[in-house]
Amino acid sequence: MKNYDVIIIGLGAMGSTTAYQLAKRGQKVLGIDQFGPAHDQGSSHGGSRIIRQAYFEDPSYVPLLLRSYELWEEIEKESGEDILIVTGGLMFGPPDSLTVSGSIGSAKQWGLSYEVLDSNDIRSRFPAFTPEPHHIALYEKKAGFVRPELSVYTHLQQAEKHGAELRFFEPVVSWKANPSGEGVKVVTEHGTYEAGKLVISAGAWAPQLLQDLGVSLEVERHIQMFFEPIGGIEPYRVGKHPIYIWEGDDGVQLYGFPSFGIGAEGAKVAFFRKGKPCTPQTIDRNVYTNEVELIREYLAQFIPSLNGRFLQGKTCMYTNTEDEHFVISTHPSHPQVSVAAGFSGHGFKFASVVGEILADLAIDGKTNHPIDLFSPKRFAYQ
Ligand SMILES: Cc1cc2nc3c(=O)[nH]c(=O)nc-3n(C[C@H](O)[C@H](O)[C@H](O)COP(=O)(O)OP(=O)(O)OC[C@H]3O[C@@H](n4cnc5c(N)ncnc54)[C@H](O)[C@@H]3O)c2cc1C
Repeated sequence: MKNYDVIIIGLGAMGSTTAYQLAKRGQKVLGIDQFGPAHDQGSSHGGSRIIRQAYFEDPSYVPLLLRSYELWEEIEKESGEDILIVTGGLMFGPPDSLTVSGSIGSAKQWGLSYEVLDSNDIRSRFPAFTPEPHHIALYEKKAGFVRPELSVYTHLQQAEKHGAELRFFEPVVSWKANPSGEGVKVVTEHGTYEAGKLVISAGAWAPQLLQDLGVSLEVERHIQMFFEPIGGIEPYRVGKHPIYIWEGDDGVQLYGFPSFGIGAEGAKVAFFRKGKPCTPQTIDRNVYTNEVELIREYLAQFIPSLNGRFLQGKTCMYTNTEDEHFVISTHPSHPQVSVAAGFSGHGFKFASVVGEILADLAIDGKTNHPIDLFSPKRFAYQ
């Protein structure tokens, strides 16, 4: 039996960057996925994912974001692909909302450049938006989006160039870590493989593969919707239109993108959070009229020209932890196993740096990146 340095279960956002980083460092890598490269059954499809630096979720993400931008640029240079598109971003809502105050707090703490716009500034600079008079926004020039399918595909391609062996359409049935702390065995529907180390980056399937992690992971169904703007797409094109997250007075966060890629003649919009519990086996992939009508209510208030013809809706899964922070760590019971899970709907922008971290953990058992926030041991029931 062929022996590998590292096996990676799951070649989505995080597994693809990990395969690339490990192979680039000369590790003998086997990557396994149950589906094909850059598929649309998990959490990494739909054409675009917001990336921003003034991070309202917690300022401790900022150093990781700064490194993730560098690594996005590095893979772009190596591959010649445009994966990161910088188009500016607006985080808006009432001044004391998490979206606005958290973003400003993060930017201040890390000396990031930003502008604060009042509702008149917003209406004159970005006429598509119709904020309430008391709404303000943080504008960040460096915000934009990354292209998930292209990222996954490109990282996998580059990983193979650096010598990684990748197997698709091969579901992993079980894995076992030797009690000695060295060595793992992975059983798939097609065979059994052995390696020194294991990385598990299984997205919405993590609850099934990581039952002994001691972390509660809840999977949710979300919908990405594409609408054709009334009056034409021109003002919604990349370069003219920013990405945005809008927090209403009711605390609901709506976010969207300029027109790009999938649904090229439409612009994408979705709710952040507000998903329905599901599993990868039970998720309903249909999109219903009442779901389209609900998002229309918010569009009518806030970005009325986007409230045109509904083009398409694509479901996608979040995998949430209780505090909505990630889990990135060596496994508490098996030092030779590293895990990346529970990205809680905001992980993609970090995929480039998560690959670097997981490669560090697999090779050295530690990383210089600040990942204390992501320890599975933070949960009280550990
Ligand atoms: C609608 C939506 C919008 C989002 N918007 C943003 C955003 O704007 N910005 C942002 O930063 N993040 C966003 N996210 C979150 C981000 O996309 C996810 O955090 C990220 O894609 C998770 O990556 P992953 O590698 O954990 O999962 P995935 O990319 O789904 O990869 C997991 C892989 O593991 C494989 N796998 C699982 N189990 C097995 C098994 N037993 N055998 C073999 N293979 C297996 C799966 O097939 C899959 O390929 C969004 C997510 C959704 C759903």
